[in-house]
Amino acid sequence: MRREDEFGFEKVIEVYDQKTGMQGVCVIHNTARGPGKGGIRMVPDVTVEEVMGLARAMTWKNAMADLPFGGAKSGIRVDPRKLTPEQKEAHMRAFARKIKEVVPGEYIAGPDMNTTEKEMAQFADELGTPKACTGKPLSVGGLPHELGSTGFGVAISTRVAVKHMGKDLHGMTVAIEGFGNVGTFAMKFLEEWGAKVVAVSDSKGTIYAKDGLRYADLMKIKAEKGTVTAEKGEKLDAAKLFELPVDILIPGARPDVIHKGNVANIKAKMVAEAANLPAKYDIEQVLMNKGVVVLPDFVANAGGVISSYCETMGWDSETMFKVVEGKIAGNTKIMLERADNHDTRKAAMEIAKERVSDAMRNRGWLR
Ligand code: NAD
Repeated sequence: MRREDEFGFEKVIEVYDQKTGMQGVCVIHNTARGPGKGGIRMVPDVTVEEVMGLARAMTWKNAMADLPFGGAKSGIRVDPRKLTPEQKEAHMRAFARKIKEVVPGEYIAGPDMNTTEKEMAQFADELGTPKACTGKPLSVGGLPHELGSTGFGVAISTRVAVKHMGKDLHGMTVAIEGFGNVGTFAMKFLEEWGAKVVAVSDSKGTIYAKDGLRYADLMKIKAEKGTVTAEKGEKLDAAKLFELPVDILIPGARPDVIHKGNVANIKAKMVAEAANLPAKYDIEQVLMNKGVVVLPDFVANAGGVISSYCETMGWDSETMFKVVEGKIAGNTKIMLERADNHDTRKAAMEIAKERVSDAMRNRGWLR
């Protein structure tokens, strides 16, 4: 058995379906706090090791979010662009059948790379229970991510951290990388709460306006012209966004955007990680050592998994927003208190591990 530490892995299920040619893997890392929760990605080069790493990361993310979920992840090794819609559906249904023994008792699925609410509806339909997965369409009892739970959670985490620093969000300047699902909602809420968003980027570049950009204007221009850079203001390279003189920087699109080549030029006093892994841990440490407050990805962007939990409970979107607010605010606060404004990722990991260890001890898995 592949067992890397006292936490897991509990199950590594590799499956193959002769009829469709579907090859997949479902990794359940730890279920002490509840069924392992993690998405299914459909990519041609997915490996068992990659899925194992992602499953372990979900254990910490779900524990830090304080949800009754363990950690898990799945992968289907295929290039979905080479499949017809019927073949893609057949792969998803075959995968569901092959892992049905562990769903939903030990594993609850969700969307990930190249899987959407459509595939989640097929997965749940194949197993005959809406409890099989989250991220389903509203029409079959889902809470789709279009509601903006992740961007809302990022904004809440930021607001709590600003207050913890003894400051007021009102008038603080913000730069946001990416104007997709997460970036748009983060901007919407931060603007509502008085922050001044001065820079936003998308794949075409950055738009910078010292006097502030307006959420409604950017939504309009993005819909009409396909890019935020068509808005009035100074047009800069996408990478320049990170070096702007702002109070709060929100990386919300790609990994590794803060790196050894630009970390010395970061002027923000807070980095709220909306994207996954926008900076490696050693780079985060450079930031933290110079007094920057870093809100780690798995704390700040947990709104999506919290929304998934609300979906499994059958709650509506209004309740979901309240739960996201309560959990992200509480978890950000205890992390900042423990970190004493320094190594926030280390503090959050310690909290997550303590929560999982407690559950394991209570179940008699650990002495
Ligand atoms: P999305 O596809 O909706 O939006 C991505 C945005 O990034 C688009 O506006 C795109 O134009 C922009 N972009 C692409 N290349 C860029 C570049 N070079 N410079 C600046 N912007 C660029 O994606 P999303 O759902 O908003 O997710 C963004 C990040 O947040 C990803 O890292 C994702 O893993 C992470 N995340 C998302 C969720 C969620 O619920 N959506 C949850 C947790 C983490």
